[in-house]
Amino acid sequence: MKARKERKMKSPLKKKLTEKEYSALVEMTTLTLPEFLGYALEKYPHIEGQEFYEFYLKQRALRLGRPLSLHCELTPLCNLSCKMCYVQLDESNAGLHSILTTSQWMEIFRQAIENDVYQVTLSGGEAMLHPGFWEIYDYLYSMGIRITIFTNGLSITNRAIEHLRKKPPQSIQISLYGTSDDVYEKVTGKRVFSQIEKVFLQLQEANIPFKIAVSPNRYLYNDMENILQYLYNKGYSFQVNRNLLPPREETGRNLKDIALTTNEYVDIWTLYKKTTNMHPFSEEIRDNQDGISCSAGMATCHINYKGEMNGC
Ligand code: SF4
Repeated sequence: MKARKERKMKSPLKKKLTEKEYSALVEMTTLTLPEFLGYALEKYPHIEGQEFYEFYLKQRALRLGRPLSLHCELTPLCNLSCKMCYVQLDESNAGLHSILTTSQWMEIFRQAIENDVYQVTLSGGEAMLHPGFWEIYDYLYSMGIRITIFTNGLSITNRAIEHLRKKPPQSIQISLYGTSDDVYEKVTGKRVFSQIEKVFLQLQEANIPFKIAVSPNRYLYNDMENILQYLYNKGYSFQVNRNLLPPREETGRNLKDIALTTNEYVDIWTLYKKTTNMHPFSEEIRDNQDGISCSAGMATCHINYKGEMNGC
């Protein structure tokens, strides 16, 4: 078995400062940004300015109740048709719903940036299938936004890799639906595992960091051991999601057909620990002294393909 690459260690300010210093720093975020940075960098010269900058933006967003981060579902269309998907629609039923156009999304992003949004996740369906994907991406990139792409990987062509190499996103998250064409077909309707594997290798060669996400579900359950072993052996950075989003009514799918039982999740976490020698939630336990934290509904919000916004 190959040695697994070390996961990148996050370093929240909370871990670098005492509780008193941290609280004092939170208070200082009522200053202007230049004043805050001047204070923080002089007092803690060993900590990088970028960390203070992001801390300031987040604290200010939390205080003012304004979003810092947007999760945008550009389109419900997808080139796969996963049996457990909560959002995907076919061309035939997508026409019944109004999908935001490129110019509508651009207007949303323009307003968001004017209001200090700093991070954007482009998601779907398959985000990269939106006809304005690259126009939107380039605009966000030019505005200094930290971009995350959620994708199934099928639209990551040579041309896309070249684009991403020149204008790198903050991160790319690729969903994995099995470790063979047979399992892929069972879950997604297409035999595309080898194609996805090639994308992983191409991204590695181009030095574009990515993370692989797995969402256990009824159709993937029997392949979970292979998946965990595969990801671990390859040394890929990965996460195993802990729940499934309930499919929306318009998809015609039903949570009870796809969800796993608690015991099945326990089996998966046991396998995870056995395969990786790590506690499944060790990163969260390590990175969040006060337990699992999330800014959803406080400084993060979600906009769906119809332009409807909610807190998470
Ligand atoms: S790849 Fe993602 S968006 Fe597409 S059908 Fe599968 S789960 Fe849904």
